Amino acid sequence: MENEQVDVLIIGAGPSGAVSAAYLHNQGFQIKVVEKSKFPRFVIGESLLPRCMEHFEEVGLLDALKQQNFEVKGGARFMRGEKMCNFDFSNKYTDGWDWTWQVPRADFDKTLTDTLEGWGVAIAFEQEVVAVEFDGSESITTIKDAEGGLSTVSAKFIVDSSGHGRVLPRLLNLDMPSKITKNSSIFTHVKDEKRPEGREGTIITFDIVSRETWLWVIPFSNGYTSIGFVGPTDYLESFEGSTTEKLQEMMKLSDYYFDRFEGIGYEFEPRMLKNIAKSVKKLYGDGFVLTGNSAEFLDPVFSSGVTFATESSLTAAKLITRQLNGETVDWEVDYTEHMKAGVAVFSTYVKEWYTGNLQTIFFDSNENPDIKAQICSVLAGYVWDRTNPFVKNHHRLVKTVARVAELEKGH
Ligand code: FAD
Repeated sequence: MENEQVDVLIIGAGPSGAVSAAYLHNQGFQIKVVEKSKFPRFVIGESLLPRCMEHFEEVGLLDALKQQNFEVKGGARFMRGEKMCNFDFSNKYTDGWDWTWQVPRADFDKTLTDTLEGWGVAIAFEQEVVAVEFDGSESITTIKDAEGGLSTVSAKFIVDSSGHGRVLPRLLNLDMPSKITKNSSIFTHVKDEKRPEGREGTIITFDIVSRETWLWVIPFSNGYTSIGFVGPTDYLESFEGSTTEKLQEMMKLSDYYFDRFEGIGYEFEPRMLKNIAKSVKKLYGDGFVLTGNSAEFLDPVFSSGVTFATESSLTAAKLITRQLNGETVDWEVDYTEHMKAGVAVFSTYVKEWYTGNLQTIFFDSNENPDIKAQICSVLAGYVWDRTNPFVKNHHRLVKTVARVAELEKGH
């Protein structure tokens, strides 16, 4: 069987794999990316956060993305019935990027891999990692091609960026139940024929149809729009019929958007992903690290997935660089603790969204601009800025502020 030797093997060519590949390639390492699908391929995760722009910029991938003219996302709108809450990233508390994009991921991810290939990075598409054996930190990975042929790659380090594929969590038995509620999602794309002119047509919106269930509307610059519901698994399953029938029925829950999408065919049979939150027992081991969705996924409500994917892969790539250059690396402190700090903040926001506390703050008519700016920073992905009280004291501040808002309303 053919065997190839590399410094670092990266599993998966989504944003997470692409960012670590870019960084490690720029450091001069011999790397190989193995990707199961043929690109472009559909994947969900279309609303980005400003924080991830820093990652693409740092590794040199931003210019290629800018040329694609993706829809600019300067904030987000949340609505519940008649009430609206608009966040504008330029009013956020923390310094940093105040815009990002809404992207069809097939095009976005293909731009990343085309750019990497242009730099000379080896990406093996339609090749699936099927087995990994470790001998200390050295590993031998078995790869299956589209015809079923097998080959191996010896590597000093593996970055598992396999997203929903969860390659190492499965092979090494690292999966762990998530503490986040059991939510599922159903989604598709539509040709947005009735899209209104101006901002109304292009703004990303989260329409809350009940405390636990919401609709996303993510318009793209190519005239298509992503629509999808997230809600408790039992509730989504209670809608009958095919996924098309389920989604058509669910769209009736949105007073605001029903007319805009009524009678428009779905670009593909809506997909349903069940129990989407994922967690793992550990984020790294001897000779490997888990990044992006392969490690942890919370909930789509604050669009944190891609930002965690790129934050984790860039952090990991820097640590791998140090380790392969002979330095001692404290993975527990510099990787796990760093990532867990950000995950903890977003976990609080996700949980408090579904308890209703965060919704109370968002839709409170006595809006406090300082509080709003601090929460806006979190929603922009700046969850490592501990000067922000809504980061530092996330455990209690959301609850407290919601309680005050309730008291002021006379509850
Ligand atoms: P991916 O983008 O999934 O890439 C992983 C790659 O690994 C894939 O291309 C796959 O083919 C490849 N692969 C898998 N198995 C193997 C194997 N055995 N061998 C080789 N290659 C393999 N995030 C956001 O930021 N914004 C959102 O609005 C958002 N909405 C979401 C909505 C839903 C319903 C869900 C479930 C998630 C959402 N996410 C969102 C999360 C987002 O999908 C992920 O966080 C993001 O795609 C993670 O990127 P990644 O690079 O880790 O993985």
